[in-house]
Amino acid sequence: MPWVDELSEPQELRRCIRDLVALSTLPAIWKGYNSRQIADSAAAALLSMLNADVIYVSVPGLRDEPAADVMRTSQAVSSRSSDHVERILRRAWRGRREQISTIDNPLGKGTLRIAAAPMGFGGDAGILAGSVNPQFPSETHRLLLGIAATHATLAMQRRHAEAEQRRLVSVIERSSEFIGFAHLDGRPQYLNKAAFELLGLSGIEQVQRLNIFDFMAPDEGTRAHRELLPIVMGTGRWLGELNFRHFKTGEIIPFLVDWFRIDDPRTGRPTNMATVSRDLRPQKKLESDLRRLNDTLEQRVAERTSELQEALRRLTLEAEERGRADVRAQKSQLALLHASRLSAAGQMAGALAHELNQPLTAFTNSVSAGRRMMASDPPHRVDTVRDILGEAAEQALRAGEIIRRLREFVTRGETEKRIENLPDLIREANGLASAGIGAHGATVRLSFDPHAEAVLANRIQLQQVMLNLIRNAHEAMEKSEWRELEVVTARLDDESIEITVADRGSGLPDNIVEHLFEPFHTTKIDGMGLGLSICRSIVEAHHGKLGYEPNCGGGAIFRVTLPVPLEQ
Ligand code: ADP
Repeated sequence: MPWVDELSEPQELRRCIRDLVALSTLPAIWKGYNSRQIADSAAAALLSMLNADVIYVSVPGLRDEPAADVMRTSQAVSSRSSDHVERILRRAWRGRREQISTIDNPLGKGTLRIAAAPMGFGGDAGILAGSVNPQFPSETHRLLLGIAATHATLAMQRRHAEAEQRRLVSVIERSSEFIGFAHLDGRPQYLNKAAFELLGLSGIEQVQRLNIFDFMAPDEGTRAHRELLPIVMGTGRWLGELNFRHFKTGEIIPFLVDWFRIDDPRTGRPTNMATVSRDLRPQKKLESDLRRLNDTLEQRVAERTSELQEALRRLTLEAEERGRADVRAQKSQLALLHASRLSAAGQMAGALAHELNQPLTAFTNSVSAGRRMMASDPPHRVDTVRDILGEAAEQALRAGEIIRRLREFVTRGETEKRIENLPDLIREANGLASAGIGAHGATVRLSFDPHAEAVLANRIQLQQVMLNLIRNAHEAMEKSEWRELEVVTARLDDESIEITVADRGSGLPDNIVEHLFEPFHTTKIDGMGLGLSICRSIVEAHHGKLGYEPNCGGGAIFRVTLPVPLEQ
């Protein structure tokens, strides 16, 4: 220690001790100082301690504080020359890194001896002391300069470390994440504000009675202790989902836990453990909201799609219905044609009577002639009588042929059957019947069973039946006081549908009932007695039955029974 040798004089020693003590008190004074204040204070202290002419302290800018270049001189200098001196000293410091050097004295005549002590910030940071004394610096000077530089460095580093720590603490404290430190045995050391709030912890006293595994949901605590802690200790870290519990409400809170080990940087030994954990409730809620939204969206899309499909279906149905309506209109016309044919049949009766009259008269004449021949005395020859009867037979066949042709004429139409809407069909037939003959002020009541709507039929033929029955009913009621016609459909059972046409007309005498469905039985002057026989043929062709019964209280009831279509 060369500087010790210098202190042979008690006075020197005293002075050195006094300076060392003064230097040692500086860090306490510097506690609240910023970099510039520390640099200035160090420069002032050294100027007197070293009996120097100038002290220059240069500190680089550190994070929140600007660079500090401070110069102190023993004699007052103008600010202009002060800047000049500072420039020269800075150049001297930067140019030569030797700890001692000599430059031209920027403060006056002669030379200036310079001693430098670097500060621990890297770069150009350091303290420069200059004196015109050729003995400068002594070993004691260099010692004091070095100690001052070290103290100033430490003070500034501490200041920065504290600022850094404050920043870190405020980040941790303000963080919304659960941040905590614990001893290796699980005793909590520190919890941030968020941790207290998230778990509903009342204060540090409560925390000190707990272990970090108490923070977790009961089953999770055991798992964490048995399985996860060894991972943290072994690998240094575990990251995953864990359920914590709220101490006040008991709510189980899912957390994304980053659990890590903290090692002593010097020894590498684990000293603590810590966690930064995130409350997953908002994220889970968001996920479930999203899922719900997605579901609703899917549902809405499905609904909209089905609405569209339904609209499309309806449109298609409407289009089909329109098509069917067109077809129906055409068919109605056809039916009308048939109806007019039927109603014209009465008028045709005259013509037909004439047609039939001829073969029938011929037939009667032949039979009468035959009878006379056989009765005459002497009787005619058998072969003559046979010829006459042969002619009679021919005429009868001709009459039969005429009737057959008439039936064909009336029943002519499509034989194709399809599912028809019975109420529609009846409504149309009723319309045609009324239009055809006039309803004579009769009340018509149509009543349809919704379970008897479909029928497998040839529309025109079945309408012909209905038309005939309704028209007969109206005709039978022409002279009645009580004119009421009821057409009712009913589902009898799984297999059959019934249509009743009931009127309040004259009813039917027994002699007519017997032959009602046979051709040429009529009570009408202009009637042909063919309608009901044709109706029965048509109904039977539809695998149904047509029957009559008297209406209780007067009138007739005709019942048409038809099979329920197989599709039903
Ligand atoms: P037409 O009407 O040409 O006489 P139909 O075969 O339709 O031929 O009828 C046969 C006969 O049955 C009619 O002449 C009539 O005497 C009788 N008849 C048919 N329907 C009724 C009815 N609803 N009420 C009373 N008599 C009827």
